[in-house]
Amino acid sequence: MSGYEANSRAVAVGKVLASSVRKENGCLECGLTPSLEYPKVKVGGTSYSVHRLVYEEHTQSTIPDGMYTCHTCDNSRCVEINHLYAGTPKQNSADRELRGRSNPQSGDEHWMARNPEKIQRGGNHPRARITEQDVIKVRELYASGVGQGEIATRFGITRGYVSLLITRKKWAHVA
Ligand SMILES: [Zn+2]
Repeated sequence: MSGYEANSRAVAVGKVLASSVRKENGCLECGLTPSLEYPKVKVGGTSYSVHRLVYEEHTQSTIPDGMYTCHTCDNSRCVEINHLYAGTPKQNSADRELRGRSNPQSGDEHWMARNPEKIQRGGNHPRARITEQDVIKVRELYASGVGQGEIATRFGITRGYVSLLITRKKWAHVA
């Protein structure tokens, strides 16, 4: 990419907005890096999607790791602040599915590609707390006659989840 490079977010956003064109539907389309679906600029050597930079600059915040800047308008080039919101990858993919899109995103949108193991995990998902070894142990304990309630207590998981492990409705790939 031979795109625009800036030293600060504010300068980059200024450049983005200067390049942008207002559309009839209210979108503000960025004119930078026309070959990319999601226009990019570099700030301090790192490449960012322009809509993310605009959102972060407007809100004076930084989108946390694992969050996306999403479009309500589904226009990947749009940097209209009123069309942008911060969402989780789940929200983002749900939104995209609702709008009938499935193309992988690129650049800093690569969260899902970089963290495939996290996609199905909510913060409270039991799988985040146990390992393969635990699963094997749970099944061994149950096979040796230990009750589900006691197993649940030992591993700090719910009784319902123990049941799912034993019946292989979860972690079926573990022996
Ligand atoms: Zn828009």
